[in-house]
This record gives sequence, C-alpha cells and structure tokens, in this order.
Amino acid sequence: MTPVLSRPLAAFQNEPVLDFTKPENAKAAAQALDRIRAGFGREYELWIAGARHKTGDLLDSTNPSKPSQVVGRHHRATREFAHRAIEDAHAYFPEYSRTPAARRIEMAVRVAEIIRSRKLEFDAWLVSEAGKTWPEADADVSEANDFCEYYARQMQKFASPDPVVQMPGERDEMIYLPLGAGVIIPPWNFPLAIMTGMSVAALVAGNTIVIKPSSETPTIAAKFAEVLHEAGFPPRAFSLCTGSGSSVGDVLVEHVKTRFVSFTGSRDVGLRINELAAKPRKGQIWIKRVVAEMGGKDAIIVDREADLDSAVTGVVQSAFGYQGQKCSACSRAIVDEAVYDQFLDKLKAKVATVTVGAPQDPASYMGPVISASAKKSILEYIEIGKQEGRVIAGGEAAPGEGHFIQPTVIADVDSKARIFQEEIFGPVLAVAKARNFEHAMAMANDSEYGLTGALYSKNPEKIRRAREEFFVGNLYINRKCTGAMVGAHPFGGFNMSGTDSKAGGPDYLLQFLQPKSIAEKMQ
Ligand code: NAP
Repeated sequence: MTPVLSRPLAAFQNEPVLDFTKPENAKAAAQALDRIRAGFGREYELWIAGARHKTGDLLDSTNPSKPSQVVGRHHRATREFAHRAIEDAHAYFPEYSRTPAARRIEMAVRVAEIIRSRKLEFDAWLVSEAGKTWPEADADVSEANDFCEYYARQMQKFASPDPVVQMPGERDEMIYLPLGAGVIIPPWNFPLAIMTGMSVAALVAGNTIVIKPSSETPTIAAKFAEVLHEAGFPPRAFSLCTGSGSSVGDVLVEHVKTRFVSFTGSRDVGLRINELAAKPRKGQIWIKRVVAEMGGKDAIIVDREADLDSAVTGVVQSAFGYQGQKCSACSRAIVDEAVYDQFLDKLKAKVATVTVGAPQDPASYMGPVISASAKKSILEYIEIGKQEGRVIAGGEAAPGEGHFIQPTVIADVDSKARIFQEEIFGPVLAVAKARNFEHAMAMANDSEYGLTGALYSKNPEKIRRAREEFFVGNLYINRKCTGAMVGAHPFGGFNMSGTDSKAGGPDYLLQFLQPKSIAEKMQ
C-alpha cells in the first residue's frame, strides 16, 4: 500500500471517556455548562450553498429537563432552500471530489481535534439540548471523535487499494470514487456522534452533503457545522438544512440530483425514505443508494446458568441508560423460569436505586425523555403494558417540570404483547418467562427487528448456539447490549432494523464509494 498522507496516522484508539466522579472533572463540567448557558436562546441561520440564510420562521429548541428554557432558535429552511441545497451540492461535487484524499483525511482528523479541544462544551450542549447525563454525553462526544479518526484511517485504505490480478500486457487496477451529492438525516438520540459519523464518512469519501438535522437537536447540529468550517471543509461541501422532516425531507430525498441518502432513525421514516428514493424521477440517471439504520426491540436472554447479579446489572444499564432512548436499549428481558422469580426480586431491588432528575446533577442516573410528545407516547405504552403484564417498578411520570418518567418494569408479559413487539423508545422494560433456552431463543427472534441482543449464560454450548441462532446485527455475550465501540463493535441491524451498514466498521465507507476498474494495455 502506498502512503496517502505525508504524516502517517497513529493506530486507531478509542477516545477515553471522562470520569465525572472525580471532583476536578465535575467542577470543569459545571463551569462548561455555565459558559454555554450564556449562549442560550441565540439565533442560528441556515447554511446553504456556501452562505448563511435567514427565513424568519424560527424553530425553538428547548431543554428537555426544563422546557421553558430555549437552548437555541433556528431559522427553518423552506422547500426552496432544500431544493437549492441539493442543486448546489450537485454542482460543487466535481470540484470537491477532486480534493486529494490526503487533504480530506486531514480535515476529518481535524474535526476530531477541534471537538476534543472543546469536549466539555459539547458535553454541556448534549446535557442541555438532549437531556443526557454527563457520562452519557461524554460517551456521545467521544464516539463522534472515534468516527472521525476511524473513517480517516479507513479512507487511507480505500485511497490506496490492494492491487488486483495483472493480465499479461496490461496494467490493471480498481479504484474507489465518491458517489455525488448526498442527504444526511440523523436522529436526535446520539445527536453529535451519529450526525458526525454519517457526515464525516460521506465527506472523507469525497461526496458533498446536505445535513437535515433532527428538529429536536438543531443547536448541536449548528455547533457541528461550525466545526466542519473550522476544520477546513470548503463552504460548499456541506449545507445545514434545518427544518422539519415532513416538509423538507421529501424534497431532499426525491430530488433528481440526490445520489444517496444516509438515514438513521425510526422504522417508519426509514421505510418511507427507502420507498421515495426508489422511484426514479424525470432526468434521474442513477439508482439512489439508501443507507437506512432504523429501530430495535432488543432482547437480553437470562439463562438458568447465568450469573444473575451480573445479568441484572447488564439489563438495568441497557434498559435505562439515557432513559432507554438508544436503538440498542434492552426493552425485552427473557428469563428462564428456573431463575425467573429470583431475577425479578434482584431486578426490582436494582431498579429502586435508579435515580431520575436533572441530567446535569451527578446524582441523576436518568434524565428526561426528549420531548413532551415522546413522554405522552411512552406513558400511553405504559398504560397498555398495565393491561399486558404486571408493573413491578415505576409505571408513571416522575416529578419535575421536565419530561421525566420513572424507570418502568412490566413482568409476566406474553411474547405477542404490544409492549414486547413494538419499539417504545423510553424507560420501559418488558420481562417474559421462558420455559427453557430454546423457548427463550425463539421469543428473542420473534421480532421484526434484529439490532442488538445479549445472552447471559455460563454454558459454552448455549453460547455457541446463541452465536449461530440469535438473529441480531450486534450480539453480546455476558455483557450489556448497549455501548458499541467504534472499531470493535461495527454497528447495524438485521430485518427492519435497517440495511446493516455497520457504522464504525471497516466496510462502512463503501456505502459512500463506487469502485471503478481500469485496464490499460501496455504499449
Ligand atoms: P425519526 O423520527 O425517524 O427521525 C429521524 C430523522 O428523520 C430526523 O432528522 C427527522 O427529522 C427525519 N425525518 C422525519 N420525517 C422525515 C421524512 N418524511 N423525510 C425525511 N426525513 C424525515 O427518528 P428519531 O425519533 O429521531 O430517532 C429515534 C429512532 O431512531 C428510533 O427508532 C431508534 O431506534 C432509531 N435509531 C437507530 C439507530 C441505528 O443505528 N439503527 C441509531 C439511533 C437511533 P425531524 O426531527 O424534523 O422530524
């Protein structure tokens, strides 16, 4: 492999997370929060086709733990702006795509350096706009950096590919080209990490992009756009097209110049995007590529031969970390009948220690859910759950002005129950009893999703069977089913969980590249 960069990059390493139990880190975090508070309520313009724009139609982003507090005010794009953003991304693509790979890689690494230098500030924005506790926020920011560093290194590989077989009298090669203008549609639940990963992967591969951020977390997106500028990405290489998915989303997806859509979010929106993108429009000369990473209904199997204390800890962390609002969150615990009652007793005791409150308070394990509408929907599911099982913990909203909900556990749930089948995306855990390991595995796989899953067992044969039979994109054995690390646990799911693109894995950049084969006859 010929070197792509003059200065080689060190081997990839995951970004360390901060320990907020250390007084100096807790103090620095509180100071960062004070600093960013001074900027609350600021107005943010659109960034489209290399220039700032105002529309006067403002989206107020609020603090989920204190909804009366406006974190940022964002000009919403019109459909015309969405149209212009794609047109310009397409027009600028030929120039940007010729930026040497080495330069693109340097800019990707620079993004990580800038975020790293402002890590606590980004943590504080995540605490304030997404309702993350400090450790959850810091994990999100660290993951954003990991994506930049990892994809930069992967791009080195694709910029200098392995040789192909050489025909006599020819020089044969296969190179990787970027695709064109793409649309990046991230969710709010990892508002920095997922947006950064999706955007930087497309940019480092040589594509121009239009980012349509989540309407729940537009301030973090605006801060990220500032970082892209500072890192040296040309002003027309990306647009920030803030606006509601239902109004500007379709324009971006359907546009004839859109070459690809990279989406992470719910199943329903992903399927709609996939359907709209599949229909060729007049003048379109390619099949649009859709990367769609979607929802989950993730199960942890607790076998009769499990270490129960460890299983309870793993289930509680997976179910209630970030209020259960992770695509990888455990929302189904499937427990062997031989240990079912014992497991429930231990689970109930552990859930009783889970604290709910303002996420900036280090004493809170759980913060608020993202919005009033999410809270309403989750509480409706809890009511359904009360008919479908037995509430052994929580079951109600938690006190406070914010969107707080108690960590809720509903036991004795049938595998066909709605709360066992549908993604709730909140702190609600359904527990079902299995007759044996086979029954547990059948229940785990009885889902239209297939994102993450875990097995707690000491039995090597059951572990072997889970490796073969548990139909999920990310399987964990004797550990929690959340917390995938870039590089170590390439992430993506089966079935309705998406296209299994494996974010943070060695193949991910291929979603944003197309290989070209060249054979030159030697004179
Ligand atoms: P969502 O409601 O599907 O929204 C995701 C993004 O799509 C947002 O930016 C949203 O914009 C946009 N959108 C909505 N309607 C659209 C349309 N018609 N056309 C184009 N874009 C549209 O999901 P979410 O509530 O943000 O995120 C939670 C979901 O994401 C869960 O289902 C979770 O499991 C999933 N998720 C999956 C993964 C994974 O890797 N598999 C990772 C994280 C999250 P607006 O905000 O303006 O509506």
